[in-house]
Amino acid sequence: MAKHAPTGGVTYSAFTGWTDRPADFAPALEGEIRCDVAVVGGGLAGMATALRLAERGADVVLLEAGYCGWGASSRNAGYLSNALAGDPQLLRLLYRRRLRDLVRYGENAAEFTAGLIDRLALDCEYDATGNVIAGVSTGQVRRLKKNMRILRDAGADVEFVDGRDFGLPATFLGGIFERAGGLLNPGKLALGLRAALLASSTKVFERTAAQAVEPDGADVVVGVPGGRVRAERVVLATNADSRDLEIAPSGITPVWTSLVETEPVDPDRLAAIGWTSRTGIITPHTILENYRRTARGTIMFGTRRLQAAPPVLGAREPDRAVVADLVRGFHERFPSLGYVAPQRAWGGWVAMTSFLPVAGEAAKNVFYAVSCNGHGLSQSPYIGTLLADRLVGDEIHDDLRVIWRPRPPYMPSFALGAAALKAGWALDRMSDRLSRRR
Ligand SMILES: Cc1cc2nc3c(=O)[nH]c(=O)nc-3n(C[C@H](O)[C@H](O)[C@H](O)COP(=O)(O)OP(=O)(O)OC[C@H]3O[C@@H](n4cnc5c(N)ncnc54)[C@H](O)[C@@H]3O)c2cc1C
Repeated sequence: MAKHAPTGGVTYSAFTGWTDRPADFAPALEGEIRCDVAVVGGGLAGMATALRLAERGADVVLLEAGYCGWGASSRNAGYLSNALAGDPQLLRLLYRRRLRDLVRYGENAAEFTAGLIDRLALDCEYDATGNVIAGVSTGQVRRLKKNMRILRDAGADVEFVDGRDFGLPATFLGGIFERAGGLLNPGKLALGLRAALLASSTKVFERTAAQAVEPDGADVVVGVPGGRVRAERVVLATNADSRDLEIAPSGITPVWTSLVETEPVDPDRLAAIGWTSRTGIITPHTILENYRRTARGTIMFGTRRLQAAPPVLGAREPDRAVVADLVRGFHERFPSLGYVAPQRAWGGWVAMTSFLPVAGEAAKNVFYAVSCNGHGLSQSPYIGTLLADRLVGDEIHDDLRVIWRPRPPYMPSFALGAAALKAGWALDRMSDRLSRRR
């Protein structure tokens, strides 16, 4: 059996491993300020909302508890994709009448965000490779073929590819190739968008957490530790932290997901195991696994295990046991790369609903755009931009209409509790074991 590199040398981060923190911060808000629109939260959703509003001539304030990009937006795995969260068979069951519109929304989101990167010249190593959902067993491949038919019927630009022909590592038999999107460095993307925002007319306040958002006559007042903002309208772009604001819609549940990055690997060694494609790989397990190459020559992998949230989120490092399990998974999928040492690990909070991304009006003049169920890299900037256009008076866009709700459709709380998330992981390991026996 190949000797496996130990996990002892892994550096754990409570931020992202993609980039360093910004060197300087925008000031915290002190005192009272007025504006047309106050945006709460400076992730991709909030930054895109504020930037578009500013471009369209609105007087905008953005409040960010940490610094812009502190949350999931700079921590994610960097798959810019047209995919909605959730297995297509399940989505068809839950949202049959809307599936075609949702698929169109997903395709447009990927195209929009790739276009935004181009328009703002955001240097984020974007590589338009598309992504592939690849099966590791014949059972998974059968299911993927069925899913592909569902997606195609709903209008998605996907095709089935053979693992060997497509240049996937030997473990991955084949799968659904989604042509839209590709891979990028989300840390650089978030910092690039932050720089564009700081250069705009938006008044950005960092290390300024909104504590309460309350309608007051024709206005909405946002209270922060050192003062308050009086705005005509407010947008909540608070993602997994939404439940901390009383006015935010219920049904947004945070779960923790972790990532691991290895040391650099010689590309010739990857070619030797058949991994010549640069496309990002995702598995169709109940809790997905993702494996990708990075522009710095490393391999990154993640998810496989989700963790339930404590009452207060805060900064946190991934658990050692979860990282060890992710590394075990890496060795299972890449048996001949056992010598490759995992180097660093980090993670972040994902906002979960019943799979659908959502935006809407939570209370009079208080709007929200959150919860892309771990698939928000392309969707968050798109939703934010469409919402901004709506707020400056445009007709509601069809893609915004399809996800517009006063509150998100949510899963029963037990479905995202520790026991259910552990059961999902156990089910996947059992199916892995059964497929190895066949
Ligand atoms: C480890 C990981 C891997 C992922 N991988 C992928 C992927 O490969 N592809 C993909 O499409 N998606 C992925 N996602 C999901 C994706 O990153 C998110 O859907 C997306 O970044 C959400 O953007 P956002 O702006 O809504 O949220 P965030 O980036 O979380 O931003 C919310 C911001 O609001 C701030 N905030 C919260 N409360 C307050 C308050 N009261 N006052 C002021 N500020 C506040 C937070 O500090 C934070 O900066 C992943 C997520 C994680 C964590």
